[in-house]
Amino acid sequence: MKQSFYDLNYSDLEAIISQNNLNHSAAAVLFNWHYKKKEHTQCQDKIAKCSLAFIEDSFDFSLPEIDVVHESKNDRTVKFLFKLKDNHKVETVLIPFNNKYSICLSSQVGCAMNCSFCFTGEQGLKRNLTTSEIVGQFLQAWRWLASNRPGEERILNIVFMGQGEPLHNFDAVKKACEIFLSQHGTSIGVQKIAISTAGYIPGLKRWSQEIPGVNLALSLHSPFAEKRNELIPINKKYPLEEVLTYIDKIPLNKKQFITYEYILINDFNDYLDDAKELGAMLAGKSAYINLIPFNSFPGSRYERPGLDKIEKFKDVLDTYKIPTLIRMAKGDDVLAACGQLNSKN
Ligand code: SF4
Repeated sequence: MKQSFYDLNYSDLEAIISQNNLNHSAAAVLFNWHYKKKEHTQCQDKIAKCSLAFIEDSFDFSLPEIDVVHESKNDRTVKFLFKLKDNHKVETVLIPFNNKYSICLSSQVGCAMNCSFCFTGEQGLKRNLTTSEIVGQFLQAWRWLASNRPGEERILNIVFMGQGEPLHNFDAVKKACEIFLSQHGTSIGVQKIAISTAGYIPGLKRWSQEIPGVNLALSLHSPFAEKRNELIPINKKYPLEEVLTYIDKIPLNKKQFITYEYILINDFNDYLDDAKELGAMLAGKSAYINLIPFNSFPGSRYERPGLDKIEKFKDVLDTYKIPTLIRMAKGDDVLAACGQLNSKN
């Protein structure tokens, strides 16, 4: 079976090219063709015929297929359902902002973390995605924009906040980041990539050493153990205090900060005491808080608080001088907002 071209980072490709005595410029030409120009046809740029023949014989260039596209009527968010080779499916979301897009990528089919506020958690974990399946979501979404919204193919931010716990599939996510960051390819700035975690400590340890500079978002959701255990069951194995101790040790660049995500659930974690405890916990850190009013999904047991309560919660955090943003839902009419992804057949 041929190896997927999109599973290789730049140094992997260079190594294969040199082991096979091909012209060393082939790696740069191929990365430029497939990642910078985002072409899916055979490379037409300057490349020796023998290299081209080797490449065609050795690599598979297929990508996940777009199965269904949902476009939000409210805000132009786009949700893709991708079909993988083994017929599993994953979802990816393009979120518009100022004539550009952020892309929210999935890292696993389903998820093992079973968070109670998340539709994906109900699916259980089916399997990890490969690097090519992760990179493929980006390339296919870019091509969809080029065909359907020409001139708008500007995906400037990448967030690993789709289906799956990215740090639970560390190797494939790391390689995908290396491909996105490569100056020979998409050349996305390191500050433009963010990985979200529920607090999976084994992955956190590796993250700080192996992909420094990539931004981190922690799903915090409650400063109190009992409530966080209900929302994020792995809190019982990796308690928040331990997770924060790890995060505090991560060396950050001058302008870098950790984002703390907080889903606000009506009459559960939206009391002023929750806000005070959260503020005291994060005060003085290089922290940024995203308040996400809960997005419901079929069968969900929680509700979104009213705007008044949300604003009062933020007012408390403001007294701790922590930059806090209320992130109103985008794409919730097509179940594309935070916590709403589910690709179960
Ligand atoms: S919130 Fe993230 S980690 Fe939790 S179940 Fe959903 S996808 Fe998994």
